[in-house]
Amino acid sequence: MREANFLIENNARHLWHPMAHPAEMQASPPRIVNAGEGVEITDIHGKRVLDAVGGLWNVNLGYSCDPVKEAIRQQLEQLPYYSTFRGTTNSPLIELSYELAEWFKEDGLVRSFYTSGGSDSVETCLRLARQYHKLNGQPERTKFFALKKGYHGTHFGGASVNGNSNFRRNYEPLLPGVFHLPSPFTYRNPFGTIDGAEIAKGIARLFEDEIAFQGADTIAALIMEPVLGAGGVIVPHETFMPLMREICDRHGILLIADEVITAFGRTGAWTGSRLWGVKPDLMSTAKAITNGYYPFGAVMISEKVAQVFENNKSAMGSIGHGYTYSGHPVGAAAALASLKEMQRLNVAANAQVRGEELIAGLKELYERHELVGDVRGKGLMCAIELVSDREKKTGAAKDIVQKVQDVAYEAGVMVRTSGANVIISPPLIITAEDVTRIVSALDAGLSAAG
Ligand code: PLP
Repeated sequence: MREANFLIENNARHLWHPMAHPAEMQASPPRIVNAGEGVEITDIHGKRVLDAVGGLWNVNLGYSCDPVKEAIRQQLEQLPYYSTFRGTTNSPLIELSYELAEWFKEDGLVRSFYTSGGSDSVETCLRLARQYHKLNGQPERTKFFALKKGYHGTHFGGASVNGNSNFRRNYEPLLPGVFHLPSPFTYRNPFGTIDGAEIAKGIARLFEDEIAFQGADTIAALIMEPVLGAGGVIVPHETFMPLMREICDRHGILLIADEVITAFGRTGAWTGSRLWGVKPDLMSTAKAITNGYYPFGAVMISEKVAQVFENNKSAMGSIGHGYTYSGHPVGAAAALASLKEMQRLNVAANAQVRGEELIAGLKELYERHELVGDVRGKGLMCAIELVSDREKKTGAAKDIVQKVQDVAYEAGVMVRTSGANVIISPPLIITAEDVTRIVSALDAGLSAAG
């Protein structure tokens, strides 16, 4: 490794980072991570911390998952690449498709289509939704509905359904015909209540009203995360997703579950849709499917959608969409090994148990620190929202949030911040001791910043 100063200076000089201002790099250089082991990462200064970000909600099995590493090595030897465009495929991908059909059987998802990551998966879902309606004799169904505060990646389609202006404004105009419903957020919502069931009903009323106004026969799909992640970990009331499902069904609208974060156990259930007892028409996945070790994603397709494509023998049924890396054999091998490990370690069950411990710890922090305005989470998808005034719910200043993150890091735990939210999404293999470590590092951060 080159010396620290070389790396810091050349990072600032040559690299633009996602979701960061290029001009910030000199004043506040990013942490340069150099190694990972178990649930810990080590930076270039040799400091070792627990990674309570879990890479980016994706390294669910930690950094030492040897079976996945070995599967990647072996596949690189055997066949490092082959395309899956019409006429060819590869053997690990077929095996993976068989396993995914088993994995997602309970969600009613029977076919898979492969991508290079989450944004690709979202884009694929949006395109397939439009094509489905065309094949189904309803070509005017082109509009999309989504939730405010929803995050769906950064392609033009995904940014168009994105519910956060930070990801939209600089890139507008985006897709026309996209409409946003309020977020099912108890802490901040336009309904003047903290009753999640009432909020769910309020959003359902607005959705129905908008469907009546727009005409159901113009709407292709509603896309939503079962638990909203990047928008600040918003856990809807249990009635919310079933209500959305029922409205979509009644109006012939497809339901796309964006499960890029939630598909492989993070919420404590194997999928977010299953958590709420809903079967989506299309599901986007990525991230933990390869434990973050290889860029890869899968879109899962329901029988209903599959039948419409497969029964249409005309050229219109052909999928005019896909990527050079759709179904990459190394990604497929990594995914196969990841699925096996996830199942062997039953990480969903661990996420549920550790998640409950973590939420209990975060609630104690709420009792002790005025700076904590709200505690939210499901499984190992958690957040605390920092406020300068609990009564008014005024978000804490940027330097305060930064201070909490910095002191927690010094205390041995990496957390992520997004606006006034501190996001905690550790690997799903963490232990009870790791949970204690996370809570006490945040305690130190909140004490220093409060
Ligand atoms: N959808 C959701 C719900 C996500 O959380 C993300 C990324 O965090 C994406 C889509 C985009 O995935 P990627 O960053 O792999 O393109």
